[in-house]
Amino acid sequence: MRCPNCGDTDTEVVDSRPTDGGQAVRRRRECRGCSLRFTTYERLEWQTLQVRKRDGAVEPFDRDKLLDGVRRATEKRPVSEDEVHRVVDEVEAELQDREDQVVDTEEIGELVTDRLRELDEVAYLRFVSVYREFTDASQFAEEIEEMEGEAE
Ligand SMILES: [Zn+2]
Repeated sequence: MRCPNCGDTDTEVVDSRPTDGGQAVRRRRECRGCSLRFTTYERLEWQTLQVRKRDGAVEPFDRDKLLDGVRRATEKRPVSEDEVHRVVDEVEAELQDREDQVVDTEEIGELVTDRLRELDEVAYLRFVSVYREFTDASQFAEEIEEMEGEAE
């Protein structure tokens, strides 16, 4: 942390305590160059990832919807719930890493299909065939349900 007085980067934390009911940490720092004491706050930054749907509408990323879609695609397949969560975790982490906080729904679909392809061929095909047509994960879940209904 650079000193606001002399610009020295050599500053020392002399006191650190939670504040805002534990939502932030307040730190007193002292510059080793000019001895100025100043305060910094550390807070959790909530990244609100936005998803741009095919019709152009933008809505907040919904992890549960994605989870549901992946779960449906892997239903009755040798893919564990842990693996389903891992796929979603990895996709979410990759999306959060991007500078652009608005992602196209197709991009999310691509990230999921890349992972499903490695996990299970049938789950991959199910996901691709439906996700490419529908951009909304809940629509996807419904469609899978219908497909399975027809197969029986
Ligand atoms: Zn200083």
